[in-house]
Amino acid sequence: MSEIRKLANYIDGQLCPPQGRRWLDVFEPASGQRFAECPDSDVGDIGVAVQAAQRAFPAWSATPIAQRAQFLNRIADLLEARLEEFAQAESRDSGKPVALARRLDIPRALSNLRFFAAAATQFSSEAHATDGAINYTLRQPLGTVACISPWNLPLYLFTWKIAPALATGNTVVAKPSEITPLTAAMFAQVCMDAGLPPGVLNIVHGSGQRTGQALIGHSGIRAISFTGSTRTGAAIAAVAAPRFVKLSLEMGGKNPTVVFADWEANEANWATLLRSAFSNQGQICLCGSRLLVQRSIYENFKAAFVEKVRALRVGDPQDPASDLGALVSQAHFDKVMGHIALAREEGGTILCGGDAVRLEGRCAGGWFVAPTVIEGLGADCRTNQEEIFGPVATLIPFDGEDEAVALANATNYGLAASIWTSNLKRAHRVAARLESGIVWINCWLKRDLRTPFGGVKQSGVGREGGVDALRFFTEAKNVCIDLE
Ligand code: NDP
Repeated sequence: MSEIRKLANYIDGQLCPPQGRRWLDVFEPASGQRFAECPDSDVGDIGVAVQAAQRAFPAWSATPIAQRAQFLNRIADLLEARLEEFAQAESRDSGKPVALARRLDIPRALSNLRFFAAAATQFSSEAHATDGAINYTLRQPLGTVACISPWNLPLYLFTWKIAPALATGNTVVAKPSEITPLTAAMFAQVCMDAGLPPGVLNIVHGSGQRTGQALIGHSGIRAISFTGSTRTGAAIAAVAAPRFVKLSLEMGGKNPTVVFADWEANEANWATLLRSAFSNQGQICLCGSRLLVQRSIYENFKAAFVEKVRALRVGDPQDPASDLGALVSQAHFDKVMGHIALAREEGGTILCGGDAVRLEGRCAGGWFVAPTVIEGLGADCRTNQEEIFGPVATLIPFDGEDEAVALANATNYGLAASIWTSNLKRAHRVAARLESGIVWINCWLKRDLRTPFGGVKQSGVGREGGVDALRFFTEAKNVCIDLE
């Protein structure tokens, strides 16, 4: 039995235990074994972290932009030197295949840091020539901000928030998900090695109920950038809104993948469709979990899709041959299995999967679920309305373009959609009619960090990415000079 690793908070440039000496167990999803403990920090730890961030703010916000960018680039360089170690840690902590962490999660964390380091140096603001006066806009950092991130893409989403916040001159108190705290805890050491001044970034671990709640309720916090479930987003908004704290909420999705009869069914496109449904065990907010397929190709599509899903390998995340690893936790495994049971109760037909996968050896206690495809359910049943956030996709036939749009829009969510067609005019028409923050045409998860990222309806409020993130983390001040 290997030793239990004890993770620390990172406050005021130091690694420190939680004041209350309370710890939370951290499990390896692939084995179901406890392998670490992370702080369950409380209002006292948050208080110290916010104070440290507030002390650091005057000097950090006055640091030239180029120098702030240099810090972020140095952190990225040091992280890159430890890429394999971080990929292994991310896989162990979250259950995702190590190959995915190596290819996606950690490289994207590097890109986030480098992108926002560069973007901040290119950030400009407006000037408005008025009759007899000139106005210009000053964009100034907010102060100390909170960044709260989920467990599905732990370091990827953690850096997606802290990088623009720091680059624009804010100081940060960040709370990663306590379910996957490992890479954020390791990131603290990288910041120390890079010489980041104390208090500029503080990482406080713990549960949402205790630590998260203390953070969002702290009067010293000027803005909250949150990614997570719609339920938690609503709870955060209820605390923050009456205090008029600036809020960015990136929340859940129930994304449609709309396949028209004239889609190009080549191997590359099939591979992308499969990834869009099952990448990271379906635990990506952008995953297409409802496949709307034109009726004239429905039966053929179904047969081919199910055959390809059956061929996906669920296995040890360490094994390069595994397409899918484990779900993140026992609780999430139970939730996903509960949704599959519900789909059966609602009258759905399980075309493949539908069960837990029991592996041998070190993964015998892991939380694995077979990729599951379900048909025969109406658009308004719970299975097609609620975010399952697991390796579960439904198939729904449609006849024409209007019906496709109506079905695609028939949920309370509106994060992402993909449209598959060879008809250029139809692609543009449908893209414009979808209630969705992001639409991919004949592709999925093709990302350019300059583009606005976020959802509509219950998927989010505000946009991240590019200039939107820089604007969120700054306050616009109009200065008017009389010329007469
Ligand atoms: P949660 O909403 O449960 O948690 C997100 C973060 O918020 C965690 O750090 C959590 O801590 C914390 N938290 C929970 N309760 C509170 C509270 N009352 N106050 C402050 N913080 C709190 O989401 P999950 O971690 O389960 O992540 C999965 C969800 O994230 C899915 O719904 C998914 O769609 C969404 N998501 C959205 C994305 C987007 O860009 N729109 C991208 C990725 C995921 P703790 O872990 O302790 O509960």
